[in-house]
Amino acid sequence: MYDVVIIGAGMAGLTAGIYAARANLRVKILEEKGFGGQIVNSLNVENYPGFSSISGFALAKLFYDQAISLGCDIAIEKVIEIKDHSVITNKQEYNAKTIIIASGLNVRKLGLEKEDVLVGKGISYCATCDGNFYKDKNVLVVGGGNTALEDALFLSNIAKKVYLMIRRDEFRGNQVLVDKLENIDNVEIIKNALVKSLIWDDCLKGVTYQQGDREDELDIDGLFVAIGRIPDSDYLKNIVKCDKDGYVLSEECETSKDYIFVAGDIRTKNLRQVITAASDGALAATKAIKYLLENK
Ligand code: NAP
Repeated sequence: MYDVVIIGAGMAGLTAGIYAARANLRVKILEEKGFGGQIVNSLNVENYPGFSSISGFALAKLFYDQAISLGCDIAIEKVIEIKDHSVITNKQEYNAKTIIIASGLNVRKLGLEKEDVLVGKGISYCATCDGNFYKDKNVLVVGGGNTALEDALFLSNIAKKVYLMIRRDEFRGNQVLVDKLENIDNVEIIKNALVKSLIWDDCLKGVTYQQGDREDELDIDGLFVAIGRIPDSDYLKNIVKCDKDGYVLSEECETSKDYIFVAGDIRTKNLRQVITAASDGALAATKAIKYLLENK
């Protein structure tokens, strides 16, 4: 029986682990992929106080090392269900007096035929991870938010040509980034356009796209999809209340169950940043500690 099982080893989950371990609780952290969550894909974090500039990976490693040194036990397992006080993973079942959900967000996919099969064979959801494979090649970034804009900027230093496709004629991301991109010779912006299908043999060769009435093709070696993120909360729907988009409904990191708390991007909130993930982790753990004291 664990005092607290934390689902997710991103910045929210690791912070919750640090707070819970410092309160001498028995902590298990379950993580499907690797520690750190989305921030490990950021080359530079410049808005986390105390560090004028630090790579996302380096910042996450500091959180991780601190959690481990305090005695948090982290396992790579995918949680598939929560039943009452049991957290069931693809490997085993854990009994938990309290649970903190901190499993973050997943990439949103375009939903095209063969998209899943071509991941790693021309399709990527992370330019900073995979950009280097596309030296002097042609790539397409899809999306008009800050992620897509930053990805296009990053890739313009590596690839021969970067196409940036947005579905409207306006970007959602910062104008400063748009201005920069508009002045880079190897970047071409395609507006009011949607990818319709993928062209491939053993790997991606291109896409077809629709722009107004016109259908056309682009020969590309890489497609970087940056169209936002979505909560992966299917495994939670029967246990805590979620909104229509799948975010866990939460005030102050509490959920609809008194022994389950939530932290980070997966909960309903206004600002999704490392600092607010860490803040949530601290709050959720503190509430779990209080629950345990009151329910001894
Ligand atoms: P986002 O801001 O939600 O933008 C998603 C983009 O993808 C939008 O342009 C959207 O178009 C487009 N889109 C959505 N579904 C699509 C589809 N099926 N087909 C084609 N296009 C589609 O997502 P994000 O860029 O990942 O950013 C998420 C949050 O992180 C934002 O708050 C962002 O500011 C923040 N962020 C901050 C930084 C930074 O501060 N350095 C860096 C990256 C991200 P519409 O506009 O038409 O809906």
